[in-house]
Amino acid sequence: MACRQFDLVADHLQIPESERSRIKFPKRSMTVALPIERDDGSVEVFAGYRVQHHLTLGPTKGGLRYHPDVTLGEVAALAMWMSWKCALTSLPYGGAKGGIACDPRSMSPAELERLTRRYTQEMIPFIGPQVDIMAPDVGTSEQTMAWMMDTYSVHMGYSVPSIVTGKPVGLGGSVGRREATGRGVGYLINRSMDTVGLNSSGATAAVQGFGNVGSVAAFSLAKYGIKIIAVSDVNGGLFNDRGLDLWKLEQHVAQKKTVAGFPEAEPITNEQLLTTPCDILVPAALERQITEANAAKIQCRILAEAANGPTTPEADAILEQRPEIFVIPDILCNVGGVVVSYFEWVQDLQSFFWTETEVTDKLFRILEGAFVQTLTMSRKRKISMRLAALSLGVRRVQEAKRVRGLFP
Ligand code: NAD
Repeated sequence: MACRQFDLVADHLQIPESERSRIKFPKRSMTVALPIERDDGSVEVFAGYRVQHHLTLGPTKGGLRYHPDVTLGEVAALAMWMSWKCALTSLPYGGAKGGIACDPRSMSPAELERLTRRYTQEMIPFIGPQVDIMAPDVGTSEQTMAWMMDTYSVHMGYSVPSIVTGKPVGLGGSVGRREATGRGVGYLINRSMDTVGLNSSGATAAVQGFGNVGSVAAFSLAKYGIKIIAVSDVNGGLFNDRGLDLWKLEQHVAQKKTVAGFPEAEPITNEQLLTTPCDILVPAALERQITEANAAKIQCRILAEAANGPTTPEADAILEQRPEIFVIPDILCNVGGVVVSYFEWVQDLQSFFWTETEVTDKLFRILEGAFVQTLTMSRKRKISMRLAALSLGVRRVQEAKRVRGLFP
């Protein structure tokens, strides 16, 4: 998907063939074998990956995913998207992504700690605050980042908070980082409602995925006065046309670790959630949720891609024939996470910390700039919001590579 998207953008920007491979191929791809001792005394070897897409503009930046389906190809695609995302908001980073093929839900905290420390140890020659900085993604958390920071710091002999972002605030994390992605999604949806002429009072939203991004996005939309009528997670979904009580739902999730079984709603499947009539649809779980099979059935005015790569290229072609749906493409929609990760890194390097208001103000200013630039380009060139956002990102990387030149 990422390569096909890149080819489309390269055609649109008329990037010469001679430059395409240099922009497209990841600079470094690592695969490591991670043997750890399980709690029952057995030894299991997990596969870990890290892809650094380009190092032209500074260190690489990107999340670390723990999920059974993680592969080198998936990580490479996510690293490429991170590059365009960082360039879209002019952050001084290239994209990266990492992952371990494991099921964190079936592992104990002690096993996860051993796995994380082992992965960090294997990555030490390839990472650093000026080389590659990790952050949480699906299946990882602040705790994962704390273990990584500790392992790296023990190796160096002094504390290095800037080696990861998304760590606990008490260890040099930034206030507002945990909420940044979901809050950014809320801001951009609100901005898009102005653009398409939707009023927030009485508007409805359905959110797929109730993890870090999906839950914060849901709360953020509720603050703008939008009614959340459906949510879901890996175990299934919920629907209530009068609106879900998010506070009660949050308590339910804290206890049961899933939205399933929440009493004040009807159960629905993830597939039903995606085609529920609503004003705003927010896929905030995994890739490839909106496909050729369901793209024509989606019934929303705004599709806010909070997850990375939730829409396949085939589905995208269908959505392009449906101008009534305004798409906020993933590299714009969820960029708030990496923007506040960048703020966290800057604060760590300066050992000077900002207030939550400063963080949120600066975040919204950057989001506003990226939104306006993307919308302007989309309208001027009569292209989709996705092609516009990708074009802005790819163009910046291409120009940086061109002026730096090719080291002989
Ligand atoms: P998370 O692990 O906190 O939450 C993921 C949610 O998706 C969970 O509720 C899980 O149950 C649900 N889910 C998993 N598989 C599902 C399926 N097949 N169907 C429906 N729901 C499913 O992860 P997160 O950090 O919230 O990330 C969600 C998405 O946002 C990912 O695509 C991630 O790459 C992207 N993203 C995250 C950040 C960040 O700051 N965390 C930043 C940018 C993009």
